[in-house]
Amino acid sequence: MSEAVPVVVIGGGPVGLTLAMELARRGIETLILEKRERFELPEPRCNHVSARSMEIFRELGLADAIRASGMPDDHPHDVVYATRFAGYELSRLPIPSPGELRRNGNEAPDSWPTAEPPHRINQTFLEPVMWNRVTDFENIRIRWNTQAVSFEERDDLVRITAIDGATGKHEIIDALYLAGCDGSASSVRRALGVRLTGDDQLMTAMMATITAPDLPASRTFERAWMYWILNPDVCGNFITLDGERRWIVNVFLAPGMTPASLDFDGAVRALIGADVAFEVEHKKPWIGRRLLAERFATDRIFLAGDAAHSWLPMGGYAMNAGIADAANLAWKLAGVLDGWGGPGLLQSYERERRPVLEQVSSMVRDVRERQVVPIARELDDAGAAGDRARSELGRYMLETDSVQFACIGLNFGYFYDDSPVIVYDGSLAPPYSLGSYTPASVPGCRAPYFAIDGESIYDRIGAGFALLRFDRTIDVTAIKAARLPLVVIDVENRPAGYETGLVLVRPDQHIAWRGDTLPPALEELYGRVAGGVGQTAA
Ligand SMILES: Cc1cc2nc3c(=O)[nH]c(=O)nc-3n(C[C@H](O)[C@H](O)[C@H](O)COP(=O)(O)OP(=O)(O)OC[C@H]3O[C@@H](n4cnc5c(N)ncnc54)[C@H](O)[C@@H]3O)c2cc1C
Repeated sequence: MSEAVPVVVIGGGPVGLTLAMELARRGIETLILEKRERFELPEPRCNHVSARSMEIFRELGLADAIRASGMPDDHPHDVVYATRFAGYELSRLPIPSPGELRRNGNEAPDSWPTAEPPHRINQTFLEPVMWNRVTDFENIRIRWNTQAVSFEERDDLVRITAIDGATGKHEIIDALYLAGCDGSASSVRRALGVRLTGDDQLMTAMMATITAPDLPASRTFERAWMYWILNPDVCGNFITLDGERRWIVNVFLAPGMTPASLDFDGAVRALIGADVAFEVEHKKPWIGRRLLAERFATDRIFLAGDAAHSWLPMGGYAMNAGIADAANLAWKLAGVLDGWGGPGLLQSYERERRPVLEQVSSMVRDVRERQVVPIARELDDAGAAGDRARSELGRYMLETDSVQFACIGLNFGYFYDDSPVIVYDGSLAPPYSLGSYTPASVPGCRAPYFAIDGESIYDRIGAGFALLRFDRTIDVTAIKAARLPLVVIDVENRPAGYETGLVLVRPDQHIAWRGDTLPPALEELYGRVAGGVGQTAA
């Protein structure tokens, strides 16, 4: 038996790949087991990468390659509400293309406080960019065509049995830690006997990838990235994959309808509203749920991404929540494996992430509830009654639904308010909603973004902790003896949201502590934010 691998990740989807890269940049060796064949594309599910995920991808050296992939650089990312593809535009949420963003100095919509605005790209384009980047890390190995089938947690390691798909042979692999990033049917979660709780059917849809080169010519309004179609016959959407020929189409099933009873081609024709030829490349139903694992972790096994939670694609935030799980978990595993992190660090993963996922999944469920509105029969009619119905529905969707495509709160607003590794000071973090965010340096919040000499503060922070000092007269010499990976960053002008002279930022850019002077018992502070004393700490 060979030596235990520090971390084995089950599942090479977006969350497993992110976790492996987050570990690798901190020098931790990782083995990914992925049951798909080498470079086998995933199903074309996710289409929206949040700004927060793009910030994380930027730190992994991925952001530019992601922006350069998928739709053409100058294709608008607008969302249009329409009666039919060849019908009436109801309303529109304008969203700039990457090219336009770049020309405007990367300003996000409404000047979001970030160097990395959201990006729209299908998962079938995203994952190949990630695979490509993974090969740059010498300490990541991927075993394709390898399915993990059983897991045994011992005091000192996790023993994994996997089957090599090419030979059919069973293999035993030992890991110090195991991450189950193996999607919603997670075998890791099942092996742990962890139940999912929540709503297991909020809606059903049929999703297909279609080739339809003549579709753009049938459109009766300006082009967009997503076309959200509402009419008395059927509701659904079209999402462009390449701006021209290939499209994702989702048909939302009316209550009582099943995928088997759906006339799919007829529904697509009703969504288009014109006689346009299309060829179905791939078709599969999906069920919109809101489910959370009761537990996210044991001592040595962790669940992340869809393995721990899955919900409706509204808000475009399910994968993105998993990317945030990976960013939260990686530095903690690295801290323990490096010896400076104590046992509380790993325990904090579930304590921090689960409440946030509970909150955001409820917000996403509410988006769906608001979408279900009566559709007036006269919506398609030319004339005053039709005009009135269209104007009302267009306004309603823009006012109540479009926030799901610009959900700043889900990106930056969530905070960890009950963590054993954060030092709270009695202040309350500002509340957030889907569409609202108030930058704050309250411990637990994401450190408010700012640029320093034209550079993102997160780039300066790097992979470890950072003490931001907004006043050079504060003595921080004692910090030099820190037993954590820690840099001091001097900032001349205190940006909005920061209230104290010192702010300690964690490797995942959330705030661990703040104050106007260093606490006299620095060891106590280190012990707290590192989850206790690690094996190699003094
Ligand atoms: C219609 C639709 C639209 C969506 N749109 C969005 C969106 O816009 N934004 C968003 O954030 N999310 C979206 N999502 C959700 C998103 O697709 C998922 O949240 C995301 O894929 C989860 O990533 P993951 O890595 O956790 O799991 P997965 O992508 O499911 O990856 C899991 C991987 O594990 C592998 N695996 C499983 N079991 C084993 C095993 N035993 N051994 C080895 N390998 C294994 C699988 O082959 C797979 O590659 C959408 C979902 C749907 C259905």
